[in-house]
Amino acid sequence: MAKKVAIIGAGPGGYPAAFLLGQKGAEVTLIEKDRLGGTCLNRGCIPTKVLLHAAAVLREIRSAERMGIRTRDIDLDFAQLTKHKDDVVSSLVGGVEKLCSGRKIRVIHGTASFETPRRIRIKETGERVEGEAVILAAGSVPATVPIEGAHTEGTLTSDEALVLNQVPPSIVVIGAGYIGLEFAQIFRAFGSNVTVLELLNQVLPNEDADVARVLSRALQQEGIRIFTGAEVRKISGDQGRKKVEYALKGKNQSVEAACVLMAVGRRCNTEGLGLDRVEVKTEKGRILVNERMETTAQGIYAIGDAVGGLMLAHVATAEGHVAADQILENDPHPMDYTAVPRCIYTHPEAASVGLSEAQAKERHGEVLVGRFPLEASGKARILGDSGFAKVIAEKKFRRIVGVHLVGPHVTDMISEAVVAMNLECTTEELAYTIHPHPTLSEVLMESAMAIQGYKIHDR
Ligand code: NAD
Repeated sequence: MAKKVAIIGAGPGGYPAAFLLGQKGAEVTLIEKDRLGGTCLNRGCIPTKVLLHAAAVLREIRSAERMGIRTRDIDLDFAQLTKHKDDVVSSLVGGVEKLCSGRKIRVIHGTASFETPRRIRIKETGERVEGEAVILAAGSVPATVPIEGAHTEGTLTSDEALVLNQVPPSIVVIGAGYIGLEFAQIFRAFGSNVTVLELLNQVLPNEDADVARVLSRALQQEGIRIFTGAEVRKISGDQGRKKVEYALKGKNQSVEAACVLMAVGRRCNTEGLGLDRVEVKTEKGRILVNERMETTAQGIYAIGDAVGGLMLAHVATAEGHVAADQILENDPHPMDYTAVPRCIYTHPEAASVGLSEAQAKERHGEVLVGRFPLEASGKARILGDSGFAKVIAEKKFRRIVGVHLVGPHVTDMISEAVVAMNLECTTEELAYTIHPHPTLSEVLMESAMAIQGYKIHDR
């Protein structure tokens, strides 16, 4: 008899898990209260990347004169761009719907909560769904800081920033993480006056200091004002005229703008699931799981943003894979977070895997660092872009423990470093791996060579 599995949430955690289970013969019910695709498709990765791509096209056109391509009067039709963004999202959501029906996944549109560990009730219809196993993949929602004015009109979450009817003339972005920096660049490219306030002492506080420094400088060169070490105290004023008060190095400061974007992280979405009825334990809002994605209740699994940690679509998908194999008893393996790629789609792009230099020193003591500036890459010169590659290895075996890239297309290039780390590649092996010329990927080989004591194109 086919195993019955219920999945709550159809984001990049839930729907791939449904497909994997369905392909191996499980009878899957996928429950979703909104559109299929979750935050990633509807309010996150996809729509923001459409806007960032439009920003990149604008930048490319504006800089085309260096190649002798003359352009006149560039104009952004924001309503048309919004329509294009919505079309891309809708086509991808439609694709997931088609895949669900093609793969005989039963989709229920409604709000799920536990009645018993094996029975889920759909709020809108009262329908009951039974599952021998349940996967919780309910995602996350934008977090806010507990300060005066945090919930006033004109203070936006990333969800709201994606559905604006027009480009605001000015905006204050609170938080210089992934969301903050990507939106800062989107609005700047479309003509807004942008100020970013970050609490900690560097943008992207969890990333390698070189990545943060280069990105911060590039954004500032575009005219984005960035203040680190800025503690936001109060937001006041109405939509169209907001005031943000903050403390910077002990001094009270303020900045005014048409609106404010709150980009201070996301919190796990566990509300209304009835977790207390089934003894699924949480800690600071996140569902507790072990390395097999099992919660504290037998037969109930949790994956994706709802378990906290790295809230990334591809991590949710990987966790869903682990949970599916566990449920199917199909050669189950534990979740391994050693080689998770982290990408930011600004210009220049940044992509990292493994440890930052500071973390590597803490973990391994002395480490070896190979660098390569993109200015020395023929392909980067052709594209007119800059950036850098940095490979970090532990000293004993020269095994690669971290890779950091800034430059064009690095979000695609990082996968090579992910495979290398998964295969416990040494810098010698990477240095001897033949890379095609002229490509950007050569910078990885050159950085590994630098650790081996060789340089081809760098001085
Ligand atoms: P984040 O945790 O990456 O960054 C939040 C930032 O806000 C941090 O730098 C933090 O120090 C700062 N902050 C917190 N409180 C503050 C305060 N009071 N004043 C000023 N700054 C403050 O979170 P995010 O950027 O909101 O993104 C949320 C999640 O979505 C993240 O887990 C991220 O991984 C994911 N995401 C990923 C991508 C991508 O992969 N490209 C893009 C967007 C979002």
